[in-house]
Order: sequence, then C-alpha cells, then structure tokens
Amino acid sequence: MSDNQKLSDREKVLQLDEEMRDMPMEVRNVIDPVRLTGEDLFRFRCHPGIACFNHCCRKIDIVLTPYDLIRLRRRLNLTSEEFLHTYARPSALTKGQLPVPLIDMDSETGRCPFNSDEGCSVYSDRPVACRYYPIGSALMRRQESDDAEEFYFLIKEGFCLGHAEAKEWTVADWRSDQGSDGYDRHNRGWMETILKRRSAGDMVGTSVQTSELFYMAGTNPEAFRRFVFDSTFLKRFEVAPEVERLIAEDDVAMTEFAFEWLKGVLFGDRTLKVRPEALAEVKAKEKKSSRRVGPSEGS
Ligand code: SF4
Ligand code: SF4
Repeated sequence: MSDNQKLSDREKVLQLDEEMRDMPMEVRNVIDPVRLTGEDLFRFRCHPGIACFNHCCRKIDIVLTPYDLIRLRRRLNLTSEEFLHTYARPSALTKGQLPVPLIDMDSETGRCPFNSDEGCSVYSDRPVACRYYPIGSALMRRQESDDAEEFYFLIKEGFCLGHAEAKEWTVADWRSDQGSDGYDRHNRGWMETILKRRSAGDMVGTSVQTSELFYMAGTNPEAFRRFVFDSTFLKRFEVAPEVERLIAEDDVAMTEFAFEWLKGVLFGDRTLKVRPEALAEVKAKEKKSSRRVGPSEGS
C-alpha cells in the first residue's frame, strides 16, 4: 500500500490543498482534491467525435517548458527568438518567482494559435501540459528531504465530456501513452530550479539579471550558447571538452547544462568548477578593492 493510500480522504484533500496554494483559484476550483500516484486509476477518453472537441484549447494558461519550445520551434522551422516573438508571452509562476513563457492565446477568441477545426495542428509536438491533460503534475520537496517528489491530480472541467467515457487508465499508462515521460526527463533541471526557488520563499530575492538568465536558459538555447562561447565563460569555468562539443550542437544538452550552471548562480550549488586562474583573479581584485576602501596606509 502506498503512502497516499494510507492517508484518510480528509488528509489527502488537506495535503493537496497546501501543495496547490500558489495556483490561481480558477485552476484550484477544477482540481479533484485527491493526490494521485502513478498506479491510481481514472476514466477518460478524448476523440475527434466527442461533442466537446477543441473546447479545452482556449482560454487557458499553458506553460511552455524548455523541451516544448525546442520541439515546437523545430517543427515550425523557426529560431527560438522567432517562435517566442510569434507564439509566446512571458509570465511568472507566482508573484516574485521565476518567469516562464506561456502560449499567447488569441486576444479576441482566447483560442490557442495551434488550434484548428480539425484539432491540434502540432499534435505530435504538442506541449507536455497538453499531453498530461486531464492529469496535472507537480513536484514538491519536503523540508526534511533534498529530493523532489512527483505527484499527480485530476483536472475536471465541466465542459470536458471525456471523463464520462468508459476507458480506464492508470496515471503511469496515460503518461506513457501520451509521451510525457521523455519531456519530464529533459525538463528536470528547469522544474527543479523553479521548485527550489519556490521552497526558498520570499526571504531570498531574485535579481532582474538572474530572472533574465533563467528565462533565457529555458527559452533560447541559441542565445545561451552565445553567452557561453562568445564571453569569458569558458575561461572562468572548467567544462570537459566532450561537454563543450555536445552543447555547441545540441539544444537539449545546452539547456540541461544551462540549468546545472544556474543552480550554482541561484543556490550556490557546486555544479561547475571555477578555474584556479579565474579564482586567483577574483581574489586579487577583492584584495585590491579592500585596500582602496580601507583606512589609508600610514594614517
Ligand atoms: S474537452 Fe476533454 S474530451 Fe473534449 S476535446 Fe478537450 S480533452 Fe478531449
Ligand atoms: S498546443 Fe495543441 S493541444 Fe495544446 S492547447 Fe494548443 S491546440 Fe490544444
């Protein structure tokens, strides 16, 4: 029996309510208040003949993860910058937290730009949030643990008739059927950074520069690559030659590397080693400036 099954229904509701506290009320109102594991069952089927077809692709905030963006911009043969400019807008998960991109829905109809009368025009590259639906996923970190724990919940919007269908799934089978697993693997560093920043609470500020770096790392691997290769970055940090070769060519590897480095910037994690010569230079500069601001010699 899983830990989740040992909890009473009341406890499960309270636990989920606490974990969802940062979500807007309109989202919380449609969440079935039970925390699910991969083995839990739900009934659902979505198909083109269903009366509510396409209703879920409008008036909704869909967060674009780093891997969503890589897949979508490749599909549309656009640079990251072109894709962001045309199809996304920046937002923040919650006030004071790290910024994330959202699909820019049509301002008049509220319709997703990829939605057509026949359904999703980018279906095989659709974002992971669309793959999960009607399941929601969340990561949480308990105070006593360093590891992030993943859990799920069911989203039940009144218009969605898929819940009345007979087909039964476990959450794990649904994720695998929809191809969500690979997305989660590639997005792990991004998700953990958001979670860790959230756990740090309002006591830790995030500078505008750090927020911009986070946004760039999650949305624009080409720009992050320029930041690494066209600056003093490689003179300051030790990067193995094989990693250097990989991130020079591969957007997924570039993004994963960017979040490893950002964990050091944001939380002081020792993810990349500073080169001894760069460290010596920093120390020399610190010594020089402390001499300048200290009492003048001979006084
Ligand atoms: S509203 Fe639900 S059943 Fe209808 S198309 Fe969307 S996901 Fe499928
Ligand atoms: S990306 Fe596709 S599945 Fe997702 S909201 Fe837009 S049209 Fe719907």
